[in-house]
Amino acid sequence: MKILLVEDEQKLSAALSKGLEHEGYTVDVIPDGKKALTRISLHRKDYDLVILDLMLPGMDGHEICKQVRQWGITIPILILTARAETEKKVDLLMSGADDYLVKPFSFAELIARIQALLRRPSEALPEKLTVGDIELDLGTRSVTKSGTPVELTLKEFGLLEYFMRHPNKVVNREDLLNHLWDFNYSGFSNVVDVHVKNLRKKLGERDDGAVLETVRGIGYRMVA
Ligand code: CA
Repeated sequence: MKILLVEDEQKLSAALSKGLEHEGYTVDVIPDGKKALTRISLHRKDYDLVILDLMLPGMDGHEICKQVRQWGITIPILILTARAETEKKVDLLMSGADDYLVKPFSFAELIARIQALLRRPSEALPEKLTVGDIELDLGTRSVTKSGTPVELTLKEFGLLEYFMRHPNKVVNREDLLNHLWDFNYSGFSNVVDVHVKNLRKKLGERDDGAVLETVRGIGYRMVA
């Protein structure tokens, strides 16, 4: 799950993104309102949720929210607002925000709101994904192969979830990078291949992959 955090208080955004990453989310931080709006318009599919501060340089959270909804973008938006601004809560929900949180808030409260928002649009999605003899449980974040537990890192789990949500489709490396790594990621370019290789090993596959096929020059395909 990837979150766009739009917040200009550097200390707060650093603490939040660290905490969220610890919870298994991938986080991009943008401290400027206009840049955030551009980011959302161009990369809407990369994000599962936007956390939007209200008072921002460039453009305020309220305007961003209205514009995003005018464009028909349905991504869940959680607004962060200072205590003095709570009287605006009706306006916020009218402008298309899904929820809001008044500063200062506890991290546990933020996580609870995020989970509620992320659950809402995905109610139709099964809590368990199954492809062949591999079963992935989103509730317990566990994976089994033929009933035997497979221990995965957060990234491997994210990769496998992505593959299992797109069975029999060719998934290119760029999609995986965009979905599972933040845009500041500057590591080596074959990071996806390395993680896929480790994932295969844990699933007990050969490198030529019976389940996770390599599609030469493009990416991978999970054969259901
Ligand atoms: Ca602010």
